[in-house]
Amino acid sequence: MKFIRYSAGLLLVIVLSSSFHTPSFLHPDWGFFAHRRINRLAVFTLPPEMMVFFKPHIDWLADHATDADMRRYASPNEAPRHFIDLDQYGPPFDHLPQSRYAALVLFTDVGFVDANGDTAYIAQHSKPVSEELHRAYDRFFFNNVLPRLGAEDQSLNVDSINLFFNRNGLNLSAQSAFFREHLGEHGLLPWHLQKMERDLTEAFRRKDSRRILRLCADMGHYIGDAHVPLHTTSNYNGQKTGQTGIHGFWESRIPELFADDQYDYFVGKAEYIEHTTDYFWGVVFTSNSMVDSVLTLERALRLSFPPDRQMCPDLRNGLSVITPCRDFAAAYQDLMQGMVERRMRAAIHSVASVWYTAWVDAGQPDLSDLPNALPSKEELEEDAELRRKFQAGAMQGRVEEH
Ligand SMILES: [Zn+2]
Repeated sequence: MKFIRYSAGLLLVIVLSSSFHTPSFLHPDWGFFAHRRINRLAVFTLPPEMMVFFKPHIDWLADHATDADMRRYASPNEAPRHFIDLDQYGPPFDHLPQSRYAALVLFTDVGFVDANGDTAYIAQHSKPVSEELHRAYDRFFFNNVLPRLGAEDQSLNVDSINLFFNRNGLNLSAQSAFFREHLGEHGLLPWHLQKMERDLTEAFRRKDSRRILRLCADMGHYIGDAHVPLHTTSNYNGQKTGQTGIHGFWESRIPELFADDQYDYFVGKAEYIEHTTDYFWGVVFTSNSMVDSVLTLERALRLSFPPDRQMCPDLRNGLSVITPCRDFAAAYQDLMQGMVERRMRAAIHSVASVWYTAWVDAGQPDLSDLPNALPSKEELEEDAELRRKFQAGAMQGRVEEH
């Protein structure tokens, strides 16, 4: 790799051989059980003006609480939305852009092939572009790169990049241009929530009942994930500390065993959120502050609890599996002083508050006269396809988790 510096102060990098990242995003998830429960209970904390629409659809919202997880088997863009590996960025986190747009600008490489056939970059490796070009680059990015993000074809319009060079007095010309988005590599969760909130507000504004339901179901899912400490670290399954399997233990096994009989779900009314971006980051940072306890306490318990009473055989869908024993799970729960219950309660309140905030920001539209939100034929087919892909992919997921 060779670095050259052009007069305008932009660092351009000539890359002799290009490299592509193929990260694997196999984060497991809150159990289906907990996601369904969170979406269902969130409905009960809504004001009557919203309840009139949400209550009749409460089963749908619960049934579709895990659609977002199933999409992970159908689309490579889906998985990063469920987590953020904060340890890959800090602490400290002062330089991590909180707004989704600023983060996309910083974590997207933009390059071109110059007249000699060499590849060079305008922006690369998350280095901010120079002060004097910052504004112009920002505008270029907004108009030309942002609309292309997520597309399979990563080329950019070559005229737009040449225009950018011209306007900024850069003596460069491109034969072709491209982008590579890296923001998703360590997860998108708090940034994706910002987009979801905007989309949901818009759906309320248009009183688009089907879209409201779909987005609320998904929003409930992502907010639920944001409350799970292990969704905020690259050691998401304890795989870096010899604790593989702890993800499912914390977020599936414990709620399945205790959430029905023991948890208190009275969480109070949904509340309006003034600054949603700060709020989403607050949720993931709070989750992240618990990662240490989640891991340390499990490790300590494994050392002190009788080894032959830690894992027990259990039946799942007719299959025999080995899973943490009830007493062992109860001991872990106690050691964490009810953390799983606290996070689940916080998630329920949070989901409702986020739905409520979108509705208020949309001008509190009357939801009592919304058209029937039963899914169309196409949506039913889409659902069936999603489930089919999930079933086909699920086996592979299970294999890789162990
Ligand atoms: Zn998820």
